[in-house]
Amino acid sequence: MTGGFKCLHCIHCCFFAQEWESPIVFPWEKRLLERMLNDAGLRGVFAPVEAYGPLPGGGCVVVLYRWVVRGFCPFYDSVSRRCMIHELKPLACRMFPLLLELPSGRLMLSAACDAVRPPIRGGVERVFPVELRAAETVLLLYTGVVERLRSLGLERVDASKCGGLVDADIYLEMLAGGEGWGVEGD
Ligand code: SF4
Ligand code: SF4
Repeated sequence: MTGGFKCLHCIHCCFFAQEWESPIVFPWEKRLLERMLNDAGLRGVFAPVEAYGPLPGGGCVVVLYRWVVRGFCPFYDSVSRRCMIHELKPLACRMFPLLLELPSGRLMLSAACDAVRPPIRGGVERVFPVELRAAETVLLLYTGVVERLRSLGLERVDASKCGGLVDADIYLEMLAGGEGWGVEGD
C-alpha cells in the first residue's frame, strides 16, 4: 500500500462491542465530549484509567479516561456512515487505525480496520500522515503531563482507590495560578 489509505467508512471505528475497545481520551477531551453529549440530550460515561497521586486528602489527578461506549458511538451517523463531530472528535479517533501504546510510544495497526492490511509499503508517514500526527500529538501531550506530575512528586496510583478526582490539566492550571501551562489542543 502506498500514498495514503482510503477509509472504507465501515463501522469498525465507531462500534464498540467491548468496553475495553472504547476510546481513551484526555481530560479536556472528556469535558468537550460531555458538553457535546449534553447538547444532544445525552450523558456519557467516563472511567479514569490513569491517575497520579496522592494528593492531600487521598485525591488523585487523572491523566486519561476511557470514554465507555457500548455499541455504536452516539456521534456516529449510520446513514451517512460518518462521524457527526468530525472536527472535534478526540485524538484517539483521529489516529485510528493506528493504535498507540503508552507510555512506550509503540505504534500498532488495528486489526479491525478493513482498509489496511500489513505489510504497509511506503512507510507509516506516507500511508497515515494525518493519523500519525494525531498519535504523535497524544504522545507529546501525555509525556508532558506525566513528566510534570512526576516532577511534583506524584506517582501512578490505582484510580479505583482514589478519594476524589481532579483532571490533570485543571490541576496543573491551578498550580500555575490559573494562567495555564500550555496544553496544546485544549
Ligand atoms: S467520535 Fe466520531 S470517530 Fe469517534 S467513535 Fe464517535 S463517531 Fe466514531
Ligand atoms: S475501520 Fe478503517 S475503513 Fe473502517 S471506518 Fe475506520 S479507518 Fe475507515
